[in-house]
Parts: sequence; structure tokens; C-alpha cells
Amino acid sequence: MVKGFFKVPKAVNEPVKGYAPGSAERAAVLAAYKQLWNAPVEVPLYIGAEEIKTGKTSEMHPPHDHQHKLGVYHNAEKKHVEQAIAVALEARKRWAALPWEERASIFLKAADLIAGPYRARMNAATMIAQSKTVHQAEIDSACELIDFLRFNVAFMADIYAEQPASSEGVWNRVEYRPLEGFVYAVTPFNFTAISGNLPASAALMGNVVIWKPSASQVFAANMLMQVFKEAGLPDGVINFVNGDAAMITDTLLASPHFAGIHFTGSTHVFQDIWKKIGNNIHTYRTYPRIVGETGGKDFIIAHPSAHAQEVATAITRGAFEYQGQKCSAASRVYLPKSKAQEILDLVKKDVLSFKMGSPEDLSNFITAVIHEASFDKLAKYIDQAKKDADAEVFVGGGYDKSKGYFVEPTVIVTTNPKYTTMETELFGPVVTVYVYEDDKWSETLRLVDETSVYALTGGVFSQDRYALSEALRVLENAAGNFYVNDKPTGAVVGQQPFGGARASGTNDKAGSAQNLLRWVSPRLIKETFVPPVDYRYAFLSE
Ligand code: NAD
Repeated sequence: MVKGFFKVPKAVNEPVKGYAPGSAERAAVLAAYKQLWNAPVEVPLYIGAEEIKTGKTSEMHPPHDHQHKLGVYHNAEKKHVEQAIAVALEARKRWAALPWEERASIFLKAADLIAGPYRARMNAATMIAQSKTVHQAEIDSACELIDFLRFNVAFMADIYAEQPASSEGVWNRVEYRPLEGFVYAVTPFNFTAISGNLPASAALMGNVVIWKPSASQVFAANMLMQVFKEAGLPDGVINFVNGDAAMITDTLLASPHFAGIHFTGSTHVFQDIWKKIGNNIHTYRTYPRIVGETGGKDFIIAHPSAHAQEVATAITRGAFEYQGQKCSAASRVYLPKSKAQEILDLVKKDVLSFKMGSPEDLSNFITAVIHEASFDKLAKYIDQAKKDADAEVFVGGGYDKSKGYFVEPTVIVTTNPKYTTMETELFGPVVTVYVYEDDKWSETLRLVDETSVYALTGGVFSQDRYALSEALRVLENAAGNFYVNDKPTGAVVGQQPFGGARASGTNDKAGSAQNLLRWVSPRLIKETFVPPVDYRYAFLSE
């Protein structure tokens, strides 16, 4: 029984550590890196209290050294997925009834574990298996994940406090029930923070979850399961399965108890899942919540009034950090003719200064892309650009997969605004630039709006307020996260809620209360203190 209106701790963004030479955090992360590199792991399925080793395993390798083995993970069969459903539904009975402050406490503890004793290991795991530099790991697997966990607790408290008015003689109350069934969390390779947040946000709101991480992110995801357990998450609340994505998905979507999906990944996978949900709609006890954040073809457009160096730095960071493997990464750029050469030369200078290699060498700015399929796809587009008459590889264009999947940061300049790499999400360190005539600002804005099916992020650089205002208006629906004089990446939880529309997702804004509202089904309770005893209204009187 709750005997107080508890206040949750104020959520504050976790400070980003610097990892400068000689710092304690640098020594800790490098020690953790060595230790994890040399101690192969065996990742089981976590279903309820059981850690299941099915014997059907897949190997894990660092993208920057694909012959090194990090261990194996066990793959589920259909019967394990069915077991996960049964276990989750059983766990739901107690979890959904647990007072909210107990749930809050578990996830606040998870945040503190990651901020403290797990920080170096979480970052090292993300550096090793997802090939992130220490800074990219720190802002992801430490800070963003910690922020998600802490801010979501605060958002949950805000949601619960949102109550209707009550007129005389009546008390109206809303309780925010978890969904009736289980939630399926499907997570991408590129952010450990997203991987943790998708199952945790639904669980925080009282739901039970079956979580399938990306095959390329199992290493850090496994560590997250250990954090959740250590934080006191009861068995069966988040169940962890790996294996054949289509089989797992089909099995879960066939259950009448499927109540929602929390997805982040590519657009075609999400659309395929949506279709399957539609086909099964008569099976379900409740309309499932469908939440998906998907692909992007994120833009930077510079007005002739923009400062060249600011635009160049935004391109360098926005397009190439984490090898362009952020859904928000700038991948198409529109430059005015009067400034284009100056900006491109500045970008080239930056690119030529990049060091590329293993994230263990902290002086590297660029590491490997995630896997061979991604490498091959990028190489194909780069080779094509070298051949096409309407494209030119301005800088970069090299690649080598002998040791790791290394692709040089590449700038393509095209004379065709609809060139394939202006439209297609490549998800790698390749950015395409189109140069427009200075007096075609309005037309170019329309071009930006019409060029891709996505609408995730975009940035406009301008010192001219009228031009900015026009861009905000014309590009109203071109990006869910719109940046003025800033690169389009790096959203911070609690400050820039994240998500896009069109083919980029359902825009349910991760890192905001809006997202958590998708994981509850409110029940209104109206209580009348002195009920009427005569059906006749005044107007019926003679
Ligand atoms: P992906 O689509 O390959 O994989 C995402 C998840 O879907 C993984 O868990 C994968 O195993 C699963 N999956 C793959 N095929 C499936 C199938 N047939 N049925 C069910 N599940 C399936 O994406 P990825 O390569 O891990 O991540 C990159 C993509 O994610 C990019 O398109 C990127 O833009 C997007 N992304 C979007 C956001 C956002 O907030 N909008 C954030 C991060 C990543």
C-alpha cells in the first residue's frame, strides 16, 4: 500500500567524461577493453529465471578485427520463443501489480550501476563489438542510456500525476495500466542506449517484455541484461532471445497476447512487421501499439549567408562520427555555389586529418563499419559513383576489409540532385553534396523536402533570419528533429526528444513522456459519492 505521494529524484543529464590522457576513466576503459577482448563469453537466452544454452550458436567478432572471436551467443528455437511468452505472461501478474515506486527504484539503480561500476565495461563492450570510439561509446552506452533510465522515471511520475478534473459530488481518477499482454522490443546495432531503452521503457510502465537485440549488438546487450538483473529486475519481466529474426517475430506476432512492438531499425523491416501485425489483427485481444523509429536520409542545407567553417564542421561531425552509422547522420548536403568550394575544401582538410583504425587506439576518429554486408554495400555505391558521369568522389573512396571493415570517409559531389546517394540510406561514412545556384534558395528548399521518403533529421545553416524562417516553413514535414545552425546528430534525452515521420517512423519521441504513453492504457475511474435515486430530469416535470 502506498502511503505517500513520492517525488522521484530530479533527472539531470549525465556529464560526458573526457578520457583525456592521464585520466582515471581512460585507464579504466582501456583496462576493461583488454579484459573483455581476452575473455570469450557465451551468451544464453534469458527466459524467466533460466539461462538457456540451446547449443545452436553464432559467433561474435569485432568489426575492426573480424578474425578475433569474442565468444558465441545461443540461438532460440520456436519452442523457446513460446516459452518466453508463457513466462512473461506469468511474470506480468506480479509485475503489473507492483507499486510504481518499486519499478522506478529498479531502473534508477540500473542507471547508477551504469554510471558507476559498469561504466568502463559497458563502454568497452560497445567499443569492441560495435566499433565505437571511446567518445562515441561514452555518449551512448554511458550517458544516453543513463539519461533514458533516469528521465523516464521522471516522465512516468509526470504521467501518473496527470489527472482529470472532478465536479461536485464526483471523483475522477485515471490509472495508467500497463498493456494487457506482452511487449516485443526489437533493437538495432548502432546504439547500446536504444537497445537498453526499448525494453526498459515498456517494462518501467509495468509491462513485460520479450527483447530481441540486433545480432551485431548481442555482446553489449548481454551485459545490459546483467545490469538489469543486478538492479533487481524480477525474472521474466524482460526476456532476452536471439536467433532467426523472422522466426522469432512470426512466433511472437501470432500470439493473442501480443500487445505492442517497440522497434528501432530499418524502414523495410518495420514495414514488413506492420504488415504481419495487420494480417494477424483478428488474433489479438487488444489493438497492439506499434512504435517504430526507422531510417533516415538526413540533410544539411547551407544558405549563402552561412559561415563556411561552421557548415564544414557540421558536415565533418554530422556525417562521419561513428562512421555515419547514426540514423541522424547527415548524408545529403546542399551548398550554395558561392561558398561550396570553400566549404568542401575545409571538409577535405578535416577528412584528410582523420585517423582510422581500432577504437582501442584512442587517437582514431574513425573505426570500422558494422559488418561485411554493410561494407560491401558501401563499396558498391562508392565504385558506382566513381563511374557515374553525374557524380565525383571528392575525397575518400577507399576501403579495405582484410582485417576489419574499414571504409574511408567519402564525400561524393553530384550534379544530379536526385542522384541515388542523395535518396538512398547507405548507413555509412558517405555523404553526397549537391551545389545549387545562390538565387535558387526557395527551389532548393522544396528539393530537400521532396528528395527522400524519410523525414528524420535535418539542419539549416543561415545568418539570414528570413531565409531561416522560410526553411522552417517549407521543411515543416521534412524532419522530426530540425536543427538551426547545428549538425543534425547528437540528440540529448530530456532536451531534444527524438524521432521522425514519413518513412522514418511513428515519431513517438524516445526520451520523452510521449513515448511512455504508448506503453500504458489509461483506465478512468469515476466515483459518485451520493448517486441519484430518481431517473426523472427536471425537464420531464409537467
Ligand atoms: P535492421 O533493420 O537490420 O535491424 C533492426 C532489428 O530488426 C534487429 O534486431 C534485427 O535483428 C531485426 N530484424 C531484421 N530483420 C528482421 C525481420 N525480417 N523480422 C523481424 N526483425 C528483423 O537495422 P540495423 O542495421 O540494426 O540498424 C540500422 C537501421 O536502424 C537504419 O535504417 C537506421 O536509420 C535505423 N535507426 C533508426 C533510429 C531512429 O531513431 N529513427 C535509431 C537507430 C537506428
